[in-house]
Amino acid sequence: MKVTEHIKNANGKTLFSFEIIPPQKGSNIKELYNNIDPLMEFKPPFIDVTTSREQHVYIEKDGLLDRKITRMRPGTVGICASLKYKYNVDTVPHVLCGGFSREETEYLLVDCHYLGIDNVMALRGDAMSHQKYFEPSKGGHQYASELVEQIQNLNKGKYLHDVIEASDKADFCIGVAGYPEKHIEAPSLQSDLKRLKHKVDSGADYVVTQMFFDNKKYFEFVEAAKQAGITVPIIPGIKPIATKRHLQLLPQVFKIDLPEDLINAVESCKDNKAVRQVGVEWAIKQSKELQNAGVPVLHYYSMGKSDNIKAIAEQLF
Ligand SMILES: Cc1cc2nc3c(=O)[nH]c(=O)nc-3n(C[C@H](O)[C@H](O)[C@H](O)COP(=O)(O)OP(=O)(O)OC[C@H]3O[C@@H](n4cnc5c(N)ncnc54)[C@H](O)[C@@H]3O)c2cc1C
Repeated sequence: MKVTEHIKNANGKTLFSFEIIPPQKGSNIKELYNNIDPLMEFKPPFIDVTTSREQHVYIEKDGLLDRKITRMRPGTVGICASLKYKYNVDTVPHVLCGGFSREETEYLLVDCHYLGIDNVMALRGDAMSHQKYFEPSKGGHQYASELVEQIQNLNKGKYLHDVIEASDKADFCIGVAGYPEKHIEAPSLQSDLKRLKHKVDSGADYVVTQMFFDNKKYFEFVEAAKQAGITVPIIPGIKPIATKRHLQLLPQVFKIDLPEDLINAVESCKDNKAVRQVGVEWAIKQSKELQNAGVPVLHYYSMGKSDNIKAIAEQLF
């Protein structure tokens, strides 16, 4: 079922969902199940599975370093299929522009369609670590809006290069990313919103936000998006802080601000166990306010471990 249908059927009740990252290749999928199992009692209607870009790795050979390009966490669509059928839950694979040609994207979407996956999250992806700016792969898309267009074309039965007459059309529900504190490369929040509107006009059905730690940022963003003519659901993304290092890492990677009270609470912790507890309490406070405001879904970034997400969900769902 589509994410938008789940939202509609909930009749204003806030739903619970979360995002997982595929394990590194070579890991056993049971570890992933062990992390997901404790969250299933909260009945998530959908689970997102991220896609990681390829990266450079250096392998020592005869005293020299050999540079290879590899994807450390492949398997997004496979994991989506396994979760869908193991737990009878909808899954949302993240589909990236970066690292894929249009043709590869088409094949991936065909796989999703055959697997009965009804939703995809269309994202540009980040630049590779050696690049200053994002560069599309050969034959790939520059912006997420172009990827949304390709998926919508498939929904109309239009495949690349018009090689076939489709007798069975896909019907993907498409999610896209939104940034309450603006995307790192956008010159202003207003211009970023214009780009978000373009993604929605290209066919996106809903938006999931980047993490934020001050709900005011989300509420202002939703209001500004409305003013910009964006009427699709905007799902807040919540990440519980888990380590002291997050105080530097999260602003650096995601270009987000942390509230002073949260920083002080984390800094006064004697170890990361205490930080994890602070992160849970902060996320509960955030989530309760968002739930009371009637957000459609509370979507949690689980980053592989679920004990903190479970502690939050227990207070809300
Ligand atoms: C909910 C969520 C899930 C994510 N999941 C993943 C994941 O699984 N894997 C991963 O690698 N990354 C993921 N990301 C990160 C995302 O890939 C990066 O933030 C990336 O830098 C931007 O992706 P986007 O889809 O927002 O890009 P876009 O919407 O293409 O926007 C990128 C930038 O270009 C600008 N822009 C857009 N269109 C135009 C235009 N026509 N002309 C000029 N400028 C334009 C925008 O303002 C923005 O600054 C996720 C982010 C979020 C919020």
